[in-house]
Amino acid sequence: MMFGLIGRKLSHSFSPQIHKELGDYTYKLWEMEEEDVAGFLKKREFDGTNVTIPYKKTVIPYLDEISPIAQRIGAVNTIVKRADGTLYGDNTDYFGFSHMLSLGPCPVDGKKCIVLGSGGASLTVINVLKDLGAGSIVVISRTGENNYTNLHLHYDADIIVNTTPVGMYPNCGESPIELSNFTRCKCVYDLIYNPAKTALLLQAEALGIPYINGLSMLVAQGKRAAELFLSTQMDDSLIESITKKLSLAMLNVVLIGMPGCGKSTVGRLIAEKLDRRFEDTDVTVELNNNRRIPDIINTFGEDCFRDLEQEAVADICKQSGLVIATGGGAILRQENRNAIRQNAVVVFINRDMSALETQGRPLSSSPEKLKKLYDYRLPIYRQCCDVEVTTQPTPQQTAELILKEIGL
Ligand code: NAP
Repeated sequence: MMFGLIGRKLSHSFSPQIHKELGDYTYKLWEMEEEDVAGFLKKREFDGTNVTIPYKKTVIPYLDEISPIAQRIGAVNTIVKRADGTLYGDNTDYFGFSHMLSLGPCPVDGKKCIVLGSGGASLTVINVLKDLGAGSIVVISRTGENNYTNLHLHYDADIIVNTTPVGMYPNCGESPIELSNFTRCKCVYDLIYNPAKTALLLQAEALGIPYINGLSMLVAQGKRAAELFLSTQMDDSLIESITKKLSLAMLNVVLIGMPGCGKSTVGRLIAEKLDRRFEDTDVTVELNNNRRIPDIINTFGEDCFRDLEQEAVADICKQSGLVIATGGGAILRQENRNAIRQNAVVVFINRDMSALETQGRPLSSSPEKLKKLYDYRLPIYRQCCDVEVTTQPTPQQTAELILKEIGL
């Protein structure tokens, strides 16, 4: 059985990993230009295929039948070759978004929902929201009647769904709206899944508003597609287990903590165990600038070092699946805390102050300086981390404890 995905740029697709978990079949990536789509579908040398940007509409004229929901949305993301050789198109994103909504804390019926963006995914989202009885649905489009200049008219929205690509890798850190204005907001859904927490979701986290990213939607649409491919039914619990597995594989493990607490040594050990790349933001700053950090601080001052560190943190932390050791003071800037948390499980390595390395560390070079730093930073480390681990007698034991705590 041969299935796959057609689209223009597919190198970053997660679909092969998802389908590997869903069934024992070949799943290929078929990158093609628009003029090749018709020929590919006419040849029918596949048992089924998913369809992604920008061909979800393009494929429709070449299909023999499409489902009522795909007709309503006007887009097809799954094609099945039936026993008689005819092609049937469906839209499993509809199921995917319905599933994503079901994970939220509040039913949408009667609620005011705003949908950011008016592209393909927006149409799917609107249809699901309508079918679930949303009280009102307002689409915010840069060129529409409701746009980003009169957003204040909708600050009373209960539910916000982002279907724009704003904040998606590699343009991490951008948000389409300032969430704090939406004082009645009960849940934010962002269809983006890379990074795991977009700038919009980081705002939700800071404001204590429940939020869900697009990974569960992606996995749920894949599961529904696999059911259509194989003419079978699969348990919905698969969605959660695959989402969890993928999410853990994508997340960075970021180590934070005082200078000299062993982040680099422990980080290397964790990277080795997980067979992941290891990055050290301090080393990156030194390599980027061809100078040692004490030299940068003594010559240009701490602010200059922090600027260079911020660049390194932003570049490294937006990647996926790494083990990252950060400089002790990286968590001092809000920009860095956001960059660190956007795609990571953050581990605070807490080490007894008397055991901290101080040599060659100008900001913590005496016991008094060290104590002051520790007292100031401790609550910030604790606020920024997902897991706090106290150092063990050996770095190996600390690394093992961290892996156990984070479930990897
Ligand atoms: P699309 O057809 O290109 O639509 C995106 C819409 O976002 C545009 O129509 C535009 O609406 C708005 N937009 C684009 N650039 C913007 C900018 N710089 N600032 C503000 N608004 C902007 O793409 P799509 O297929 O709908 O996908 C949209 C997003 O959803 C992508 O990030 C995609 O990865 C994600 N997605 C996720 C899943 C999943 O399973 N999790 C499924 C489908 C899509 P206006 O011109 O009206 O402002």
